[in-house]
Amino acid sequence: MQPLSHYPFIIIGAGPVGMLTALLLKQQNQSVLLLEARAADSNLNDQRTLALSYHSIQTFRQAGVYLPDEMLTFIRQVHVSRQHHFGRVLMSAQDIGLPYLGATIDYVRLLQACEKALQKNNVPVQWQTTVEQVQSTTHWASAQCFYQQRRHNLTAQWLILAEGGELAAGLPNIKVHTHDYRQLALVNTLKFEAGNHAIAYERFTENGPLALLPYRNDFRLVWTCTHEEALQRELWNVAEFNQQLQSVMGDRLGHLEQMGKPATFPLKLRQLNQVYSQRVICIGNAAQTMHPVAAQGLNLGVRDAEMLSATFGKTDKISLNDSSLAGKYARIRAYDARAVVGFTHILVQLFDHAHSGLAYGQSMGMSILGSVPVLKHKFTRQLVFGVTPHPDI
Ligand SMILES: Cc1cc2nc3c(=O)[nH]c(=O)nc-3n(C[C@H](O)[C@H](O)[C@H](O)COP(=O)(O)OP(=O)(O)OC[C@H]3O[C@@H](n4cnc5c(N)ncnc54)[C@H](O)[C@@H]3O)c2cc1C
Repeated sequence: MQPLSHYPFIIIGAGPVGMLTALLLKQQNQSVLLLEARAADSNLNDQRTLALSYHSIQTFRQAGVYLPDEMLTFIRQVHVSRQHHFGRVLMSAQDIGLPYLGATIDYVRLLQACEKALQKNNVPVQWQTTVEQVQSTTHWASAQCFYQQRRHNLTAQWLILAEGGELAAGLPNIKVHTHDYRQLALVNTLKFEAGNHAIAYERFTENGPLALLPYRNDFRLVWTCTHEEALQRELWNVAEFNQQLQSVMGDRLGHLEQMGKPATFPLKLRQLNQVYSQRVICIGNAAQTMHPVAAQGLNLGVRDAEMLSATFGKTDKISLNDSSLAGKYARIRAYDARAVVGFTHILVQLFDHAHSGLAYGQSMGMSILGSVPVLKHKFTRQLVFGVTPHPDI
């Protein structure tokens, strides 16, 4: 074992949320060490495309991440509808006075942009370091990690878990709740005759929700399905895919002309009863992992990063010892996180039962949301900026 090394903040996981948090804390002159299992600039084979909200894009940019317009495909409208039922919602950037609601970017490109920003801003990162275990006392926390073939112990005043989810289990006062949807997200790039016109489609079908996100001149498909359906759909050729999609989407997009290589991701809900234990705080997917149907996972993580840096950033060395800071952070974040995770889970559950007696109520709900401007305005703003707690919280 090496001698202990101590830091004010150690962040575990250089995913988008961990990197953003490190950048925001560094901007406020806090001393941070980031630990990441993969190598720097590694060749990741992750085919995820993310829809980032307008607010998330501004937050990455303000943290120093270079995301020029050319790197993004803008979403100006979101069209939500249900197969075989009346009722739809059309949300547009114009309705809430923004130039766009959000934009898509590949997960890997976002990681690369964040990595460059870390380098440029001299944020220390220890790559190829796998944290195996974390522990906490009331005054400090420790991370046992595997680095250069040896085990090391690092300690910190605050240990931030942004590693996506395994390390928190077992910490005092933390209980992990998981729900396996027994479904996969099938993703692929699709080129339709009609182009995307900066419109994202969210369609609740009899066989699960389907999202088509503008992606360059094409769309990125995220289609929820069972394992068996995924195996079938991966084998469809363009003509078969076209036929199936037409039956689900109608002919609003014209013919499917080309498609890319499919990839699948397992879908789980994972939530903690509380996001901190003494000196350890969980953010991003480590705090909550959800179904991608509403494209909210990373957007929620961005707001975690923002609030963490707002709570800890301006704190001097002595005040950093104040152990009540974790509870303060958790209280502020709880409202938004619970609302978004709950909303997403309910959405999946409700529309999963396509033939149930709820169908009429669901369509009615969508009609009301779509036709009452004040409701639609509020809902659209919440998707972009998050759910703000009552001022007394
Ligand atoms: C198909 C799909 C589509 C999605 N679409 C959207 C979308 O449109 N919009 C949206 O907002 N969200 C979306 N999401 C969710 C989004 O991908 C996640 O919320 C986001 O990636 C979480 O970021 P993170 O930094 O918290 O964690 P991650 O991205 O999981 O990063 C965690 C990092 O920690 C590292 N790590 C893990 N364990 C250790 C360890 N023990 N020691 C050291 N390092 C470790 C990993 O190598 C990784 O780099 C989607 C998810 C899926 C699956």
